[in-house]
Amino acid sequence: MSAEEAVGLAASSFGMKVSAFPLGSQQDCNFLLEGDGGPAGVLKIANPAFSRTEIEAQDAAAELVAAAGLRAGIATHGPVVVPVAGGSALVRVLRYLPGGTLTGAGYLAPRVVAELGAVTGRVSRALDGFDHPGLERVLQWDLRHADRLVRVLAEHVRDPGLRHRVTHAADRAWRSVEPLARELPVQAIHGDVTDDNVVCSVSGGLRTPDGVIDFGDLTSSWAVGELAVAITSVLRHAGAEPCSVLPAVRAFHAVRPLSAAEAAVLWPLVVLRAAVLVVSGEQQAVLDGGNEYVNGALEHERACFEAAVSVPAEVMTTLITNGVSFPRPPLCVSPGTAGVDLGRCVVLDLSVPSDAVDEGAWLTPGLADRLALAALDGGADAVVTRYGEARLDASRVLAEVSPATVATGIDLWLARPSGPGHADLRIVRPGGGLELTLSHPGPRLPARARVHVGVRVAGAPEVPPLVRPEYAAGWLALTADPGPLLGLPVSAVAGDGDLLARRAAAFADVQEHYYADPPRIERGWRQHLAGVDGRVYLDMVNNVAAIGHAHPRLEAAVARQLRRLNTNSRFHYAAVAEFAERLASLLPAPLDTVFLVNSGSEAVDLALRLAFVTTGRQDVVAVREAYHGWTYASDAVSTSTADNPEALTTRPGWVHTVDAPNAYRGRYRGDLASRYAVDAVALVDSLAAAGRPPAAFLAEPFYGNAGGMALPDGYLAAVYAEVRRHGGLAIADEIQVGYGRLGHWFWGFEQQGVVPDVVTVAKAMGNGHPLGAVITSRSVASRYRDAGYFFSSTGGSPVSCVAGLAVLDVIESEGLQANALSVGTYLKERLEELAGRHALIGAVHGAGLYLGVEFVRDRGTLEPAAEETMAICDRLLELGVIMQPTSDRMCVLKIKPPLCLDVAGADFFADALDRVLTEGW
Ligand code: PMP
Repeated sequence: MSAEEAVGLAASSFGMKVSAFPLGSQQDCNFLLEGDGGPAGVLKIANPAFSRTEIEAQDAAAELVAAAGLRAGIATHGPVVVPVAGGSALVRVLRYLPGGTLTGAGYLAPRVVAELGAVTGRVSRALDGFDHPGLERVLQWDLRHADRLVRVLAEHVRDPGLRHRVTHAADRAWRSVEPLARELPVQAIHGDVTDDNVVCSVSGGLRTPDGVIDFGDLTSSWAVGELAVAITSVLRHAGAEPCSVLPAVRAFHAVRPLSAAEAAVLWPLVVLRAAVLVVSGEQQAVLDGGNEYVNGALEHERACFEAAVSVPAEVMTTLITNGVSFPRPPLCVSPGTAGVDLGRCVVLDLSVPSDAVDEGAWLTPGLADRLALAALDGGADAVVTRYGEARLDASRVLAEVSPATVATGIDLWLARPSGPGHADLRIVRPGGGLELTLSHPGPRLPARARVHVGVRVAGAPEVPPLVRPEYAAGWLALTADPGPLLGLPVSAVAGDGDLLARRAAAFADVQEHYYADPPRIERGWRQHLAGVDGRVYLDMVNNVAAIGHAHPRLEAAVARQLRRLNTNSRFHYAAVAEFAERLASLLPAPLDTVFLVNSGSEAVDLALRLAFVTTGRQDVVAVREAYHGWTYASDAVSTSTADNPEALTTRPGWVHTVDAPNAYRGRYRGDLASRYAVDAVALVDSLAAAGRPPAAFLAEPFYGNAGGMALPDGYLAAVYAEVRRHGGLAIADEIQVGYGRLGHWFWGFEQQGVVPDVVTVAKAMGNGHPLGAVITSRSVASRYRDAGYFFSSTGGSPVSCVAGLAVLDVIESEGLQANALSVGTYLKERLEELAGRHALIGAVHGAGLYLGVEFVRDRGTLEPAAEETMAICDRLLELGVIMQPTSDRMCVLKIKPPLCLDVAGADFFADALDRVLTEGW
């Protein structure tokens, strides 16, 4: 039917004055009707194969789903019978639901997948108990007929290889379903709650499924089929793989609990659904070759099938049953089994926290072999690895997909070849329906070579020696620890337990953690962070770890000093003199005098107190949208609403703020940005005129909170001059932006061509060791005496000083400031190129390795894309990148990695961001 005919039909049958636009459908004919006030409904001309009773059942089901609180495509007009080519058809108008569907191949976040599962569960509950004669139909989509359907339609699959794999997989899946079929509850199901047929509400730029359309496949069938159909549709989306559907399963289960039998058949039903889609799509393509909707779907249907069979159903079933709380007990070799005696056996620990992987040892291939041979050389008879362990030596850096790290067996090295009387593994039998697998085929195991020893359920699919952490529970359930067969105790690889809950219970919750579901990070190396599951992330956020994580030189210096002396700076020792000299030498005259404290907050606090005692005044001018610390005084001058939503309304009376000089989105933009200085100068003047000239003006000399934006040219020069004219001090907070990160300049104030009176430093100074400093002139420093006595128990301790010296040594010897300039400049260019292709990027800010990518919903209005930014950070984590939002609008990626970031890392980050912006978040 043409669009013109649809317009005529809507007018003649329902009196609607509309235009019509065709919508895709596999079997019906659908048009979007547009009236003067926007969408007026969906004209649905049912395939004449469907009876009036069926259509009435569908409309009744839609009403039930709507009554359950979901948006549903209920009928607003009709049905009426109209003549169509070759007979008559039932026509009606369904309510149009705005917001769009999840159709297409874009990425679906776990949150969205979970919501799809919850919607599916609600549909299932709404239809439970619904009875109607129109439900009694034989549909090809009814999974109760899937085996027959695949057999009958398989001949249409043109590619013989695909045909074979589809029929084989369907047969196998059916054999898992059939024995449980009687236990599967049957009820009315929508039968097609898929990405194409859920509608979404859109809020904050993010989609949330909250409604259902297209009840055309309504039938009576296995209730669990509703979920199988929904999760199969997830598999065709960018980045999706079998484990991506688990949030939907858990969410469905929370709404409509699955029985043990339903959980057991779910993945086989996914395989059957995918097989049905492939054979039906191929058949439809033969029947209706010109239907673009059908042809376009073929590729997606194949993608679903390939994903569904990419992991053995047994593995997925364990993950599903674990997720819905029917965990199986672990398998064990039978207690009666006698092990072989390996003699003196060394057990290698290759886990993330293990000392054996220190100093990047895991990055050189062959670590396990090296360690094993060294142990054999040291006199061991045998060396083994641990079952179930996530091995860091198996991991990789810069991996968008998690590498296979979890051991499903044990690697074994023998000092002598095995044989009768020595490690004769071939004669052991694990018992209990388990079988032993050895990677070495011959009758004797060789000496000094790695042999993989596994124990798996007899007849189970082949188990890889290492599997990805997401699937580990599923694979491990097919295996047992071979340890007892080797005379070893059962491997004690501990799970995570409830560590996050323990943290929540014992740690003040205002001390938040990154990510709703954070990886547990237990190791860092250079610009990389490793989770306990062996996944390695590129750390793009840790400005504190300026010289890189776990730097051996810093570790050695601190360890050595801890062994020798750690005391307070009232004692006389070399390190404090050397470090103070060294810091002072980094600053221009007259900044030659150093205070050592333990943090940035303390440094800012102390800087303010110096200003108070030096000037005898109490008022301070600070820049809005900045963060300076948590202590009383540093918090008082902090007005970033990202850190404290009440910040602006709760300032004490002595704090006066000026506009954040944001040339991109503030009051003055572009060329007008010079006016920020005019306003700030005016405020200083007005304070002075009111008899309250400020003690200090405090600012980050490079605008950190906005993602590293340079202040307008001449800004600090003008404001410093005015503050000084009235006798106040200029304080530069270099805690984030100083210390070489900006590449071009060691200190942010250099960019502005000024010299402050007081500089605060922390963060990078200790590379994570608590270290802060205030550097000022001798005359200002000496005024502190007027306020009393200064002492910090650990500020300037020997350990802190050697840490600070080691960090400076590394920055210099490894050329990290120059690296920040070259890699940072390269990265900025790559990000700017992305900005040319992705409308969400409003601007790329920053210099060196202090960069910010600002996301906006509209480049004209600059509406901040905050929710999108958080979602993008979550997706980047999945792709192996640690990134967090910043700015008061939380719409800027704060890019401030360790200064040792290399070009490969910069490319990895830019590629991952490109991928997220392309595929969705
Ligand atoms: N000033 C600035 C600019 C900062 O970014 C921070 C920390 N985010 C601080 C001061 C406070 O430093 P600390 O957390 O070491 O107390």
